[in-house]
Amino acid sequence: MPETIFEVDVDAEPDEQPDSLVNRWHPDVPPAATLEPGEKARIECVDWTGGQLENDDSANDIRDMELDPNHHLSGPFEVKGAEPGDMLVVDILDLGPFPDHEWGYTGIFDKDNGGGFLTDHFPEARKTIWDLDGVMASSRHIEDVRFPGCAHPGILGTAPSHELLEEWNEREQALIDRGPDAPTGVNHETGEDEPPLALPPEPNGVLLGDMDEEDVEEAGKKAARTIPPRENAGNCDIKNLGRGSRVYLPVFVEGANFIVGDLHFSQGDGEITFCGAIEMPGWIDLKVDIIKDGMEKMGTDYAMFKPGYMDPDFSNYVVFEGYSVDEDGTQHYKNSTVGMRRACLDAIDYMTNFGYTREQAYFILSTAPIESRIAGIVDLPNSCVTVSVPQEIFDFDIDPDTLASNGSVEDRGDVAKTS
Ligand code: ZN
Repeated sequence: MPETIFEVDVDAEPDEQPDSLVNRWHPDVPPAATLEPGEKARIECVDWTGGQLENDDSANDIRDMELDPNHHLSGPFEVKGAEPGDMLVVDILDLGPFPDHEWGYTGIFDKDNGGGFLTDHFPEARKTIWDLDGVMASSRHIEDVRFPGCAHPGILGTAPSHELLEEWNEREQALIDRGPDAPTGVNHETGEDEPPLALPPEPNGVLLGDMDEEDVEEAGKKAARTIPPRENAGNCDIKNLGRGSRVYLPVFVEGANFIVGDLHFSQGDGEITFCGAIEMPGWIDLKVDIIKDGMEKMGTDYAMFKPGYMDPDFSNYVVFEGYSVDEDGTQHYKNSTVGMRRACLDAIDYMTNFGYTREQAYFILSTAPIESRIAGIVDLPNSCVTVSVPQEIFDFDIDPDTLASNGSVEDRGDVAKTS
């Protein structure tokens, strides 16, 4: 087992952790630890909310969650000798939940506090608790489903330079300024309550590791939120970035200063309920290296990765198709977001044939190893998006050919609601 270079306490508040957490991107956060190229390390992580969720049967904690401080992450970690223009190589050796904390959760967020991909269809907060048994996940809130998780870090990224941080803030503010005219692909029934298009720096609840307290206030006005993925990778939420993967991250500051966290026990492509993975605190073992001048040698300013070989080996899928036509019948131009939404809604409706509520089906799509693809993006005016649901995750037959004899019978429990 590699040496632990960052420790957390799942019972302590975010600002009372043994090692100081970080929840924004900023170039001047001092490293929490230093690694040599070729070195391995174990890094502990709180869950992305910093422990705001309970293992119970109420979704009140999802409804009332404080979103401004998220995500709560571990780092930054300096890699000796890394310079701007290099590529940082990170091998994801292994990760998992803490032995005395073998459970995770998934949330549907209230439309007025976080929302989600299908927030118009699922506007109220809901929660599902998952039991984690080795590599397998199952839930008392969704019966007759059990699957091997694609465990991965939701967030892994390098620190931006001052110039890059400024560029992020400028371009995201420009989108916010365009307002409702920006092409969102979102289909809200009314023009009111439009969700924000991007999240500008939020000085409330900023944690910047070991930065001097008097500098945090100033830095917090510019530090970027960790919600979107960007050139430094960050919150990519790629389910295939699992055990055995090798990630290449562009380096923008001396030492690379990478940050990791938001560990997911499993997730479907798209992480659609927003906090849509099986979220957990836990540990991750990494090995780091540097490719000098890697950005020029590899010809990219963006992150790349090679997947590991640990993905579940499903063979039978039911595949749902969505096109760029929204629920009202409005034709959009090659809009894959609309196509993804329609495919997801079809998959949800299909699962209700077997006794699942629409909310349970939404959670299954968000957490199980669901494969989503842009099948076609050239056939105007419609792009075609597919959502593939593995049949093997269910304890019963969901095959379309046998649907007529098996449909609409069982009561399969229910998810946690608000009170
Ligand atoms: Zn997450």
